[in-house]
Amino acid sequence: MQTVHDVVVIGSGAGGGTVTKVLGDLGVSVLLMEAGPMITPGDFKERLAPYDLPDRGLGPKAEGYFGGTSAITYNANFGGATIEGEPYTVAPGSQFRWFRSRVLGGRTNHYGRVTLRFADYDFKPRTRDGLGWDWPISYDDISPYYDKAERFIGVTGKAEGIRSAPDGIFQPPAALRVHDVLVQRACATLGIRAINGRQAVITTPTNGRPACHYCGQCGRGCRTASNYAASYVQIFPAMATGRVEVVADAMARELITDASGKVTAVSYVDKNTGVERQVRCRTVVLAASACESARLLLNSKSSRHPQGLANSSGVVGRYLMDTVGFGMSATIPALSGMPKYNSDGYGGHLYVPWWMWDRHKELNFPRGYHIEVGGGYGMPGIGSFNATVNQREGYGLALKKAIRDNYGISANLSGRGEMIPNEQSFCEIDPTVKDKWGIPVLRFHWQWSDHELNQVRHMQTTFRQILDAMGGTINTPAAGRGRGAAPPAAGPMAGAGAPASQPVAPAASSVPISVGGGIIHEVGTVRMGDDPRTSVLNKFCQAHDVRNLFVADAAPFVGNPDKNPTHTIIALAWRTAEYLAEELRKGNV
Ligand SMILES: Cc1cc2nc3c(=O)[nH]c(=O)nc-3n(C[C@H](O)[C@H](O)[C@H](O)COP(=O)(O)OP(=O)(O)OC[C@H]3O[C@@H](n4cnc5c(N)ncnc54)[C@H](O)[C@@H]3O)c2cc1C
Ligand code: SF4
Repeated sequence: MQTVHDVVVIGSGAGGGTVTKVLGDLGVSVLLMEAGPMITPGDFKERLAPYDLPDRGLGPKAEGYFGGTSAITYNANFGGATIEGEPYTVAPGSQFRWFRSRVLGGRTNHYGRVTLRFADYDFKPRTRDGLGWDWPISYDDISPYYDKAERFIGVTGKAEGIRSAPDGIFQPPAALRVHDVLVQRACATLGIRAINGRQAVITTPTNGRPACHYCGQCGRGCRTASNYAASYVQIFPAMATGRVEVVADAMARELITDASGKVTAVSYVDKNTGVERQVRCRTVVLAASACESARLLLNSKSSRHPQGLANSSGVVGRYLMDTVGFGMSATIPALSGMPKYNSDGYGGHLYVPWWMWDRHKELNFPRGYHIEVGGGYGMPGIGSFNATVNQREGYGLALKKAIRDNYGISANLSGRGEMIPNEQSFCEIDPTVKDKWGIPVLRFHWQWSDHELNQVRHMQTTFRQILDAMGGTINTPAAGRGRGAAPPAAGPMAGAGAPASQPVAPAASSVPISVGGGIIHEVGTVRMGDDPRTSVLNKFCQAHDVRNLFVADAAPFVGNPDKNPTHTIIALAWRTAEYLAEELRKGNV
């Protein structure tokens, strides 16, 4: 007789890692299924220089030499926008990029670790301005879980008393760097407040993990586990309890239900053999990332669930959102000719919370954005100096001097803004295309609205004002790329929360807004709500239609405020896990 697992968790990123750790701590046994391989601390390349690695870390296709993003080429991500044999499609007229990481810990192994609480008003946007939808929970419901997450994973920052950036339980932040101070001063002349970055990094020893040693390599994991990744902060310790079993290289294909509509098993492909297997379960938690979770539900069709599982509302896949992205950088004369010094740290030391949250009458767009600040002398990666080389004639000593002179003299501003959910942005199952395991893939539809385009216009004006106040010369190519245009901040993740460059949506609007999915904050698709006719999950992220099915990634998000999503994924997943443990104890699921 096959074992019936109390809980099967699918996906081991921020959501799956949190559910697994919390349930394990509460004494619940978990089988954690992960589509990617197992990982060990030795897989991380932190503190290794490119020349320490085979092919300088370029990977089998030498992508970096040809413009690949060095920041994420030679780390342990096992992912990217292209995964061999696992395509996705984009509907005609849309543009969308889907960055996936197939590895234990998912994208948390190498993400930017910007860790921001949503504000109280972010949970009730429709009440405030009539757009989007309200969440079925309030800030007070989630705040205790932000507290728990911050105590456990560790987040830097200082209490500032700003409504758009709620304070939390912070570890002391690292000092600002020179470019940070210059940006902060420039912002002050415009009446804009710039504050210490809030990063999932520990600066004091925490739960057996040593404090950060400021090597500036967070984008490549952390061998001392001094920043947050689900792999080394949650899953390895959870495995040590003996209550958590990990099945790696296991691609969930479908959820199997019985006549009563409950999930009884998960069918998956063993990627090492290609053989299809099943595990039986009492409950299942989807945490495969927002779009993968929607895909699994839509692919779990049966005569009882012709639209896919838990989809009587038809909402699965709908209301997909990303963060609005725009970047601008400038060469700053005050930084030119400075002695080079080690300005490593842990990513973004400074950020600008949204400062006009109570002045919407002055704006032509709803909601708002924050600014992440990059710059400094991080370790150069492959491709770091492409821009200088493109801008300068010559070779040899003259070129080397130009590169040295240009190194670290720019400041980069990245806008990260709120998107209002719309009917035109969603994912669905492609009717013909399958991946190499025979699983139907997702097709994406995407459209920004004037709300987002006007927001980017505001970013353009504001960033120019800040950089002008620093006496800067705006770098070319023109703004729009990630956290600023060339020359890039040297070193992996030298700025803050996203890869060094993201493609920009084309000229349709002539506004250099990021491509949908390009900021890698895709959320929505399996949203929560009080009404089963318009939502898939209840306020504990439990399916309205299927009582033993839960979702614990960004799919339940009802909106996508400017704050990066992972802190809220963790807090929500923690709340869901506690609720599930209690429901199991009471025999309700
Ligand atoms: C370069 C970069 C920078 C970022 N910076 C920030 C930042 O600063 N702040 C922030 O808040 N967010 C940031 N993000 C986004 C952040 O990484 C995600 O929000 C977060 O990791 C999502 O967690 P998740 O658990 O939903 O999904 P993931 O972390 O993607 O984990 C999902 C896991 O599920 C597995 N999986 C998928 N499908 C299946 C299946 N069918 N069967 C079994 N397993 C499956 C995947 O292999 C993966 O391991 C960044 C992302 C990137 C890539
Ligand atoms: S900067 Fe700190 S947290 Fe980041 S990789 Fe280095 S030691 Fe780890």
